Amino acid sequence: MDVFSPEKRSQVMSRIRSKDTKPEKIIRSILHKLGFRFRINRKDLPGKPDIVLPKYKTVIFVHGCFWHQHEGCKKSSRPKSNVDFWDRKLSANLMRDKEVIAEYKKSDWKVLVVWQCQIREFSKNPHSLEEKIMTLEML
Ligand SMILES: [Zn+2]
Repeated sequence: MDVFSPEKRSQVMSRIRSKDTKPEKIIRSILHKLGFRFRINRKDLPGKPDIVLPKYKTVIFVHGCFWHQHEGCKKSSRPKSNVDFWDRKLSANLMRDKEVIAEYKKSDWKVLVVWQCQIREFSKNPHSLEEKIMTLEML
C-alpha cells in the first residue's frame, strides 16, 4: 500500500537522502579507530568516492540501499507510485555506478561498496570491515 502522495514521497525521499551523509561518518570513524589512513572529498576521482585509502589503492563508496538499489535488500524496493519516474531515476543511478566501477577496473584500484544496511554490523564488529578491505579482490 502506498501511503504517500507523490509530493509527500519526494519530500520523504529527500530527507532520506540527506541522512545518507551519516553512514559515511560512521564508516570513517570505524576506519580511524582501526588505524587506517584515509582521504575524503577526493572529487577528482571517478564517482567522488566517500573514502580513499591511498596505501591500499582502494576507494570506498558508502551506498544507500534505496538510491543504489542494493540487490536483494528489503530497503531497495521501488516505490509503487510514480513508477516510471523512479525506474528511470534508479536505473540511471545503477548505470552510473557501473560506469564508475569500470573506471577503477581500468586502473589497478579496488572498489569496496559498503551498503547502508551493513553499517550496523561493521559498527559492532569493526574488524569485519578491516578484513573486507584487506581481502578485496581486483574487480
Ligand atoms: Zn541493503
